[in-house]
Order: sequence, then C-alpha cells, then structure tokens
Amino acid sequence: MEKKMRPSRASDLPLLKTALPGPAARKVLAEDEQYVSPSYTRSYPLVAKHGRGALIEDVDGNQFLDFSAGIAVVATGHCHPKVVRAIQKQAAELIHMSGTDFYYPSLATLARKLAELAPGNGAKRVYFGNSGTEAIEAAMKLARHHTGRDKFIAFTGAFHGRTLGALSLTASRPVQRHKFGPLIPGVIHIPYAYCYRCVYNLKPEDCAMHCARIIEEQLFRTYVPSSEVAAIFVEPIQGEGGYVVPPPEFLRELRRICDRHGILLVADEVQSGFGRTGKMWAIDHAGVVPDILCVAKGIASGLPLSATIAKVEIMNWPPGAHASTFGGNPVAIAAALASIALVEEKYVDNAARMGDYLLSRLKDWPQRHPMVGEIRGKGLMVGIELVRDKVTKEQAGDERNHWVRLAFEKGLLVLGCGLNTLRLMPPLVVNRRQVDFAVDVLDHCLTELEQKHAAGLA
Ligand code: PLP
Repeated sequence: MEKKMRPSRASDLPLLKTALPGPAARKVLAEDEQYVSPSYTRSYPLVAKHGRGALIEDVDGNQFLDFSAGIAVVATGHCHPKVVRAIQKQAAELIHMSGTDFYYPSLATLARKLAELAPGNGAKRVYFGNSGTEAIEAAMKLARHHTGRDKFIAFTGAFHGRTLGALSLTASRPVQRHKFGPLIPGVIHIPYAYCYRCVYNLKPEDCAMHCARIIEEQLFRTYVPSSEVAAIFVEPIQGEGGYVVPPPEFLRELRRICDRHGILLVADEVQSGFGRTGKMWAIDHAGVVPDILCVAKGIASGLPLSATIAKVEIMNWPPGAHASTFGGNPVAIAAALASIALVEEKYVDNAARMGDYLLSRLKDWPQRHPMVGEIRGKGLMVGIELVRDKVTKEQAGDERNHWVRLAFEKGLLVLGCGLNTLRLMPPLVVNRRQVDFAVDVLDHCLTELEQKHAAGLA
C-alpha cells in the first residue's frame, strides 16, 4: 500500500529528516539527468512523492511547505479529497471520448460555468485545450479569424507560452526564443507598466499612463496602422516577467484603445487567474472586461486543461477551424468542476485574506532589508524584487537564486521569476501558520544573504 503523508507534531509545517537531496532523491536525479530533456529549469533538487494541501513530501520522507503550488497550478492544494474523488469517479466512468468529434454532458456544463465566471455579462463561448500555451494559440488564431487582421501587440517581460505562436508573444528571457526563429511576423512588443523600473522615467502619480498611450500616440502614427492590429495580449499581472502589478488605469487605457480601434483585448490569466489574486480574475481588480480570456494552470488543480473564453460574437469560427483531440478531457473536466466549486465556496476568499496577511507581514521589508527593492502583489501572487543597490536598482539575480536555494534547505519551496524577483504563490488553501513560517524562513535566509553580501562573500 502507498505510504500516506505522516502527521508530525506540526503537521502543516516542514519536517526535514535527511540532508538534501536525500539518498532516494539522488538516485532519481541521476536517472533524470541521463534521460530527461535538459531544457527544464530546475532551481533545486526537490523529488516529490506525496502532496496534501500546501505540503509536499519527497522520496526520502522530508516534508516541505509548497509556496510554488507546482507553478501556480494546485489552486485547491495538492490532492484535495473532493478533487481526487471527482477524478476517480470520472476515470471509472469515461476517460476519453474527444469533445472535438463527440458530445458529453460535462463539456457543456464546464463551458457554461466558465462563461458565467468570466468577466462581463454578455454571452460567451469556450474552447478547451490542454495547456496555457494552447489557450494562447487559440486566442491568436481566433483574433485573426474574427478581425481579418494579422498583427498583435504584446509587452516586454510577457510570458504567454512556448509553442511557436505563443512564443512570438513571449518576451521574458532570450533563451526561450534563441534559435527558434523565425517566429510569426507582425508581433510588436512595447514596455509593460513596470512602474518600479519605468523605461520612460515617469512616476505613476502623474504619468497619465504614457506606457499605454504610446500605442496610439507613437505606434499607430509612425509604425503600424491600427487597422492591421488584431489584438493586444496582456497579462493583468505579469507572471514569469517578475510578478509585476500594473496600475489599474493601464488596463483601462488598453481597453479604451482597443474599443476605439476595433482591436481585441486578450487577457492572459493563465497564471494570475482562478482566484489567485483574491478575486476570480486579476483583471477584475481593474474592472476591465476583456474580449478573450485565456485560463489554464489552476482551473483543474493539476490536471491538464485550458480554456479560451470569448464573447459569442467573436467565437463564431466554423467547424474544423480549430480543435484538439484531448482538449476538454472528461477527467480534467471533472477535476475542474470540483475545483471551481471549492474556489468559489471558500478559497478565493482565503486567497484574499491570506494575501492581505502575507503582504502586511512583508510591508516593512523594503525599509528593513538592504536588498529588497520592492514588494508587490495581489492576493497570493506576491513578488519580492531583490537589488544590489537601492539607488541604481542593480538586479540581484544570483542572490535571488541563492535565496531560493537557502529556503529549500529550510523546507520551503519557492521559485524565482523575472531576473531578480522571488515569487510567492502558494496553493489557495494556505493557512496563517504556513504564511508565518514562509515569511520567517525567507526573512532569516535573506538576512544571512545580506550579511554575506555586505561582507563581500555573496
Ligand atoms: N501564460 C502565462 C501567463 C503563463 O504564466 C504561462 C506559464 O507559465 C503560460 C501562458 C503557458 O502555460 P503552459 O506552460 O501551461 O503552456
């Protein structure tokens, strides 16, 4: 019988029993190194075996607190019993029939649910895929199909996926694009509303959203006719680019520009969506309704599922225009329906409450910590940007990586994003004790790092 995660005295906190990586983990790492694609980006040697709530147990019996949620995926925590039951029941009934060629009730049920959950009151339709990048591909094709235009505007720092279409929009790290060109033509990147590092050297209080207005005032006047632009793709909070939270006016200004020029506004909520920010969608904080919403990651608590949700008048392509054999698989749909019920019932509120608490505990870090440049976030999507110098804002990328590894050694799983930001994205089930533990560990490790840095050792 499979071993259950063992309760410890502090059963909702980490418990380390071996040096890391432990002996069983080392065996897995050796095999992995030999056979698995080296393109994966592992920050430290966690070899997972069991998951429950916000905890992960590794193959050596070490228990970790997971503030990465499998890259912002396990919204309802690892193996939520209701999600597990829904998966098991569905797997015993029907695993696959392909919604592309046949019907099954849950496909329409989930489509209706997502259409109701998406921002805006108008009628919507839903296309199902298996991953975030597929949701973006579908949105790109749909935008071209609907508008008859071929160009896209996206932002520097954006991450929209790695298939060749989505990759054309992605601009977060050169290695993601290097040697993969030519990518699709007609994608124009402009700077995101990254106020801490405003490329225009303006202040958010009086910049009048120059970074959005530049689309009309420069791009459309000098470079690209607005009538050729199909869509603007935007992450309402930039994820892989550094957990960058734009002012709400930025998103409202994009909406205004899109309305004025017949351009579609596509919100990529693959990382920021599904309750993570304390509202169902991050774009809800700005009160903006996109034309197309892309979601994935959290919606099925770990099963592969994505959705591209569009206004009904936009998603009117003919049969055969776009489809996927596996997209909207019955087992993934069962997991999504169970996850949505849980998130609506309690976890979106928990994300708001725990997110506020987390931010309140981090509030004074820019004053207390010489290397903390900025704390930013909404709900349980929080970034801590590290700098070597608060005046020059020199990016402390190596130090951030070191910090992530130190946290791992103390039983806390976190990941970086951007060049020099550490992101906190626990499952939405996280409790106050776990938030306290994470903050205390990070505080302790950062102090150690800062002392080394001050002594010229880091
Ligand atoms: N869009 C955003 C905002 C993401 O954060 C990601 C993945 O991190 C993607 C798209 C791509 O998702 P996937 O890795 O499931 O293809």
